[in-house]
Amino acid sequence: MLPRSVVSRCALLAQQVPFECALSSKHFVQRGMSSVTIPPPACMLRPLEAPFRYLFGPGPSNVPPRVLAAGGRPIIGHMHTEMFGIMDDIKKGIQYAFQTSNNMTLAMSGSGHTAMECAVFNVVEAGENVLVAVNGIWGERVAEIAERMGAKVHTLKKAPGGHFTNAEIEQALAKHKPVLFFLAHGESSAGLVHPVDGVGDLCHKHNCLLLVDSVASLGAAPLLMDQQNIDILYTGSQKALNAPPGTAPISFSERACHKMFNRKTKPVSYLLDMAHLSNYWGNDGEQNRLYHHTGPVSGFFALRESLAILAETGLENSWKHHKEVAQYLWKGLEDLGLKLFIKDKDLRLPSVTTIAIPEGYNWKEILAYILKHHQIEFTGGLGPSVGMVMRIGLMGYNCNKANAAMALAALDDALKNCKKTKA
Ligand code: PMP
Repeated sequence: MLPRSVVSRCALLAQQVPFECALSSKHFVQRGMSSVTIPPPACMLRPLEAPFRYLFGPGPSNVPPRVLAAGGRPIIGHMHTEMFGIMDDIKKGIQYAFQTSNNMTLAMSGSGHTAMECAVFNVVEAGENVLVAVNGIWGERVAEIAERMGAKVHTLKKAPGGHFTNAEIEQALAKHKPVLFFLAHGESSAGLVHPVDGVGDLCHKHNCLLLVDSVASLGAAPLLMDQQNIDILYTGSQKALNAPPGTAPISFSERACHKMFNRKTKPVSYLLDMAHLSNYWGNDGEQNRLYHHTGPVSGFFALRESLAILAETGLENSWKHHKEVAQYLWKGLEDLGLKLFIKDKDLRLPSVTTIAIPEGYNWKEILAYILKHHQIEFTGGLGPSVGMVMRIGLMGYNCNKANAAMALAALDDALKNCKKTKA
């Protein structure tokens, strides 16, 4: 039997022959006188290699076979009636996951950052005030995005993992008079789930829109968009939803729509302009959906399947399940002598647990050991939490006690075998 690399090379050559014949028949290429000067790279003549890993970091998480299979179905046209039907289903799935009846609900073609930029670009105009709660990397990111598009950015700051009282938020709203206030519900760089109750009402009292990031918390911790008066909510596909990275659900309230569709200036991005996206998603009441961009068809198939799993499981069951597994993990970590970074159990994000770096250890060595010997990915901190924490994420499909036990055994092994290299 021929080795796989030879078989795939032969297959490649077989594909090339008719192509070259077609070209030479048009007198472009003569044998021995190739017009290309860059040869096919050797790596492209080898088959794709992607190892199996247990993705127990803050995302992406492992994707269940059912979602992978949905993403692997034959492509259909992005403007076909059936595709529009699938997009309509996705919209309903997001409305359930977000607990919203907002008509302006859709999925962005892009990762969580795309939704973040879409929110800021559409509801804020240059020169307007934006208030950002910064208690980890995600506030920092949104502040930078808003600054880049010309907003006047004010921040409400805490150390990573800190949280803001409603009184602190109201004081800042009154002081800065922002048109938009940003809060990360699941602050994944610090492992914090931030209280949201009452914040929407405060924002509205001060004539401001509330933007909430639920990339790391959707499906894992309770969040009710309409009941909590959130104006713009977005998430990512690759965390508790367990779809591949690359699509990002987002929803806008009536209030947010009023602001973004009564702007004086056009949003800085054509791709992320909600005037176009709302038509592409059939949300603008027009009979015809027009071409705007080519949506990620396979990504939408996978997202639909992951939203279907959440609908079958039930949101409340999903929240309860994440909490139970997280509590099991937290207890196991404490039994290993480790300290959890977020002291208050009620403020711990169930999907992403942060562990204070154990004294005397080099965190990079621990993570490398676990990846090498257990094929498990955990990660270190991100942005301001780098060097402060290690992060374990058990989300959606990965969220069960067997995986938590595997994560604990791997950590136990690493703690026994990694030298205490750092004083
Ligand atoms: N917000 C939070 C809370 C996140 O955890 C992440 C991803 N780690 C993002 C936003 C950005 O999402 P993406 O990497 O999909 O752009």
